[in-house]
Amino acid sequence: MLCDRCRQAGHRRIGPVITVLLLLWGLAPAAWARFQIPPPCKNAYTVEQEQTEGAKFAAEVFKQMPVLPDNSPLSQYVRNLGAKLVDVTPGHRWPFNFHVVASDEINAFALPGGAMFVNVGAINAAETEAQLAGVMAHELSHVVLRHSTCNLTKQQAPKMWAGLGQLAAGVLLGGGALSNMAAQGIGMVTGLGFLKMSREDEKQADLLGTDILYDAGYDPRGLPQFFETIQAKYGAGGSEWLSDHPNPGNRMQYVTAEIASLPPRSKPTVTTAEFTRSKALALKEKVYNSKEVEAGAWRNSGRYALLPGGPPTIIPAAAGSQTAAGASGRLAQASLGLKDNLSAYQGKTFTMSVPSSWQKGEGDNGSVAFIPPNGSGQSGIAYGAIVEGARFKTAVSDQNALTQATSAIARQLSQDNGGMQQVSDMTTLTVGGQPATAVELRGRSPISDGNNALPERDLLITITRPDGAVNYIIFIAPEADYPTLKPLYNSMLQSFRVH
Ligand code: ZN
Repeated sequence: MLCDRCRQAGHRRIGPVITVLLLLWGLAPAAWARFQIPPPCKNAYTVEQEQTEGAKFAAEVFKQMPVLPDNSPLSQYVRNLGAKLVDVTPGHRWPFNFHVVASDEINAFALPGGAMFVNVGAINAAETEAQLAGVMAHELSHVVLRHSTCNLTKQQAPKMWAGLGQLAAGVLLGGGALSNMAAQGIGMVTGLGFLKMSREDEKQADLLGTDILYDAGYDPRGLPQFFETIQAKYGAGGSEWLSDHPNPGNRMQYVTAEIASLPPRSKPTVTTAEFTRSKALALKEKVYNSKEVEAGAWRNSGRYALLPGGPPTIIPAAAGSQTAAGASGRLAQASLGLKDNLSAYQGKTFTMSVPSSWQKGEGDNGSVAFIPPNGSGQSGIAYGAIVEGARFKTAVSDQNALTQATSAIARQLSQDNGGMQQVSDMTTLTVGGQPATAVELRGRSPISDGNNALPERDLLITITRPDGAVNYIIFIAPEADYPTLKPLYNSMLQSFRVH
């Protein structure tokens, strides 16, 4: 930071001298009048608050989006690129951290406090490393200039932070598999007002971003080039990035003027071999469109980090086994784990015995999936059980309330899964001493016979909790395999205990 100040002070001293000389020669002044960081905007948040709350928000992004784990080569590349930019970034030393999201959208966003998420789609769209570094330098600039918290201050929404902190709890209580809750989460992440920048914010981030790009040794034209690419591909309003970062109208003009004001450099970096290698990886990386991100089937793939720096939570039984169900159809009876010993799984809110060969994955805020090897593919879980929690406005304390809660959950599952139908009466039972209900549903399996989805049979069990919330279990199988699995599902259910 000190060095930046020194350098900028130096330019200020040199500037007028050169201007005078140029004027004497009758030329337009071309002083190195680089962008000066404006005085801090009015901000109701301390730097510490911004970092703490921003980190909470970043943790939520990991739950709502497929973020590649830190050890993926693509994440490492983006992290190294980010570090080069951070080295020359002025201002407070925010705890910057960089991540890659397996989304096809050309987007990158930085959260207050310094977490930055770059989509695979943005890496694919960049033609050079300078272009990718350009959009990252622009995002870094929003963090440095504290635009998000200044916007929040302007919107007089100091309670917003509380809302963000509670988002994780909201998703948990709503039931993780209920994807409209997840969708709201996404809305919070990508559409929050404070991530929408004003034209003045944009201009500042463009100018500071250009300078950061230049100071890091890159060809600063990478920044406007990348924005032209996005605009060409999506039009003015068609991308999330452009809607959050509106073109003030004369972006090219003022960025070009800023570049012209920087001292010429003989060999700025345009691109690198690492970029070429990483882009090849990015083109091969499985990506999701925004609907698929919301639907959340990626959570079952085991490929993504659910925490900053965290490992994927579902460990595949064997490498390459993940897509088998989607591709190859029903599982052989021998691989369903029917003869396995059952071993107790201790969850945060429940205990249940499951076949020892099944994979266990904590999918989202306490929800847990139990899946036989190869029982899930990229389009969803075909075999196994999911346990979730849900809380309703009023406590679920009697059978009547439980029946209503079960109907609500069944309705939501039906909405989320393309119209499941109830195919049995709702029956009451006791699970681990707690009142419970059972109902069978019929839907479409992620497995197809080549042309059409196979029919699926699901057993939905809703169990009251002593705290007034409910746990529910969805046992899943293609209809043809349901009779075979039903005794196992019954054994699992009998072992279920809330705590
Ligand atoms: Zn911006």
